[in-house]
Amino acid sequence: MSEELEHVKCLIIGSGPAGYTAAIYAARADLKPVLYTGMLAGGQLTQTTEVENYPGYPEGILGPEMMQNFEKQASRLGTDIRFGYVSSVDFASLPHKVVVDESKTILADTVIISTGASAKWLGLESEQKYNGFGVSACAVCDGFFFRGQDVAIVGAGDTAAEEATYLAKLCRKVYMIVRRDEFRASKAMVHRVLNTPNIEVLYNTETKEIMGDGQVVNSVKVINNQTNEETNLDVSGFFVAIGHHPNTEIFRGWINMDETGYIITKPDSSETNIEGVFACGDAQDHIYRQAITAAGSGCMAAIDAERYLAAKEHVVTA
Ligand code: NDP
Repeated sequence: MSEELEHVKCLIIGSGPAGYTAAIYAARADLKPVLYTGMLAGGQLTQTTEVENYPGYPEGILGPEMMQNFEKQASRLGTDIRFGYVSSVDFASLPHKVVVDESKTILADTVIISTGASAKWLGLESEQKYNGFGVSACAVCDGFFFRGQDVAIVGAGDTAAEEATYLAKLCRKVYMIVRRDEFRASKAMVHRVLNTPNIEVLYNTETKEIMGDGQVVNSVKVINNQTNEETNLDVSGFFVAIGHHPNTEIFRGWINMDETGYIITKPDSSETNIEGVFACGDAQDHIYRQAITAAGSGCMAAIDAERYLAAKEHVVTA
């Protein structure tokens, strides 16, 4: 007995600001979008506390609440939102085949990839305990809450260097925890760090534990991996900037990516190398990684999908 396959015009994979914004635009363009949330419904913002830099919320808003608003808006406009994760894809021919939860296959005329990225963490228990209560993986998002205070940042790449200098403008003192005796960041970025007076670089140093009063962070225990000397840094904020990994593994082999897995889109477009497949948000952006830029690129993807379908229909009916 052959399985009856569901056929949709527009399938959106992922439920962060990019996915929901794509859904809002696709629904209003009558593409009847179906959106699969992925395992972390609402995306990275559900793991933050206050969001103060998203325009339209003059008093700020909690990340989880903001994502509920995105969902409500997408749903009200007619998006079919489903909990489930895409386990594999087959982009060899049109319509595209997308397998959900390793069981259900959907045929899609267009696919919008908005699977986002995940911050890498050190893997300490205390890091998870204080996540959102002093521990953050985004200085641009959360640095503001620590203005005038002392903070630490771990990492030695371009992101860590950039975020350390960003934090140095807001905070009294920034400890930069670097595990080797040198940076990975570009020379120009290192130069900026070393010329910022309130950044103190701790080389050959690793984080042992993040400590607090049970509610918020108040210090970090670090160890020098050459001398084994332990030190407590009195800080209220601990930033992890050791890289992100885009959630694009299932598209490998189909979609063009850079060496770290970020999807490559055509300039000024959300088009990928595969006809009818568009990408937006952090899955294709390793530079800005903000909710507002993800939302903007989700809008682009829906408009590109709508124009692609309209052009195809025009060819068929002409
Ligand atoms: P990277 O992978 O370049 O750097 C990660 C850093 O984190 C490395 O210094 C690494 O140390 C350190 N690290 C990794 N794991 C641990 C750990 N467990 N404990 C302590 N330290 C750890 O990531 P980035 O996010 O910095 O950059 C990603 C890409 O984006 C790069 O290509 C970068 O150039 C680019 N980028 C460019 C920017 C710009 O041009 N303005 C801004 C930001 C990023 P180690 O060096 O010892 O391996």
